[in-house]
Amino acid sequence: ATEAEEKDLVIIGGGVAGYVAAIKAGQEGLKVTCIEKRGVLGGTCLNVGCIPSKSLLNNSHLYHQILHDSKPRGIEVGDVKLNLSAMMKAKDTSVAGLTRGVEYLFKKNGVEYIKGTAAFASDHEIKINLNDGGETSRIGKNILIATGSESTPFPGLEVDEKRVVSSTGALALEKIPEKMIVIGGGIIGLEMGSVWSRLGAKVTVVEFLSQIGGPGMDAQIAKEAQKILKKQGIEFKLGTKVVSGDASGETVKLEVDSAKGGKPETLDADVVLVAIGRRPYTAGLGLENIGVELDERGRVIVDSQYRTKAQHIRSIGDCTFGPMLAHKAEEEAVAAVEYIKKGFGHVNYGVIPSVMYTYPEVAWVGQNEQELKEQNIPYKVGSFPFSANSRAKTNLDTEGIVKMLADPDTDRLLGCHIIGPNAGEMIAEATLALEYGASTEDIARTCHAHPTLAEAFKEAAMATYSKAIHF
Ligand code: FAD
Ligand code: NAD
Repeated sequence: ATEAEEKDLVIIGGGVAGYVAAIKAGQEGLKVTCIEKRGVLGGTCLNVGCIPSKSLLNNSHLYHQILHDSKPRGIEVGDVKLNLSAMMKAKDTSVAGLTRGVEYLFKKNGVEYIKGTAAFASDHEIKINLNDGGETSRIGKNILIATGSESTPFPGLEVDEKRVVSSTGALALEKIPEKMIVIGGGIIGLEMGSVWSRLGAKVTVVEFLSQIGGPGMDAQIAKEAQKILKKQGIEFKLGTKVVSGDASGETVKLEVDSAKGGKPETLDADVVLVAIGRRPYTAGLGLENIGVELDERGRVIVDSQYRTKAQHIRSIGDCTFGPMLAHKAEEEAVAAVEYIKKGFGHVNYGVIPSVMYTYPEVAWVGQNEQELKEQNIPYKVGSFPFSANSRAKTNLDTEGIVKMLADPDTDRLLGCHIIGPNAGEMIAEATLALEYGASTEDIARTCHAHPTLAEAFKEAAMATYSKAIHF
């Protein structure tokens, strides 16, 4: 056999974590290989996550708005029809354009791309089963494990991606279900539940906790989000646990139990979405043979420079610690390559924004009220409603608030929580403020253009250390 080619860096996984690391490594002049088994680059995010979900969220919102919110704007429409397969095609076109773009960036930056499944042959050698048949291998001076995550299964309810679906199936349903039940009121459940509810399904979200939105969302904002989504037609069963499921009959049946021990109940639907979280994916890598350890939740154990016990093997993205978010994976990718090339890198884990792309969007960064209370950290609150913002009023789009939490002595921003139009873009300003240690007064004394939604952000900052002008 010919000897395996040696590379400065061999990356397993071509998702956001892996592909960004590959491009960065190419830019830094490292000889780099990226191995991906899916057949296309971009991982979960581009293929079955962030991008296709946002395509459906955007277009289903437009459809819903044309149906229910055009008359007050002086727009009278005739026969509005939904063409689901064309909507799906628009989604596929966006995905294909972006994944091709990543492949182009690989070429531009001299990244070797191998389509195949990788596993450790030894602690420096990666063997690859090629998608087109045959095998090859690469020696890595450094190796990066970026194999991502998979949807957590619900015991006893097998996902067939038709009637019992994960997010992947929920992105590709061929017809609109009459009744859909979502198990789990986290971000996936609420985003995909919104899509199908807007397109006409009767959606019920069953959530074990007493609050929607998953961990991290401020409780007051979560309540507000629930109220608005309920008005849009989504039903919620909070404090309710799905205990078992049965898909053998004509409809899918779920046994649910009140978390506080109330009466058990049976629910049924034609489609059930399982959205109870995601778990790290490292199957088949052979980590046990090379001394790379996993924690009790299956996450690759790394130190602050992303190194495993074997110091030349690093891991980033969904398969290791931290929030399972694409932009977190991207930050880590750049930092990991910088550690390899220069010996230092940087990610500020206290300043990673979260966005839920429902309508309106919910976005936050930094700490929420319940977290500050738990840690006995003193804070003060300032908020501003979009109903008092001139642009939101002009746009007939006034639901939501901007809420800021700040240190009572120094006014330093501790967290920002927004529900409202364009919250996902607006949170970038809060993120920058938090990263630079800004006070709410710094924000409020920064001139914001009029009339913009961003003025609500400025006025929430004013309300934190002084008083808002328009409310
Ligand atoms: P992945 O994207 O999962 O990529 C890992 C890749 O490794 C995969 O392509 C896999 O095929 C490959 N691989 C695994 N094992 C091997 C092997 N042995 N050999 C070769 N290749 C292998 N995050 C956001 O920030 N914003 C969003 O709006 C958002 N929306 C989402 C919507 C949905 C429905 C879902 C499911 C997720 C969403 N996420 C979102 C989360 C986001 O997709 C992930 O955080 C992100 O994809 C993590 O990137 P990663 O590279 O670590 O892993
Ligand atoms: P999640 O952890 O956010 O939410 C899962 C929810 O399911 C939790 O609230 C949990 O209490 C509930 N649950 C668990 N078991 C249950 C049961 N038996 N009965 C009722 N409820 C139950 O997970 P998710 O929504 O599946 O998302 C997975 C990951 O993907 C998250 O890390 C998320 O950050 C990421 N993601 C992000 C975005 C975004 O950034 N916009 C979009 C989609 C997904």
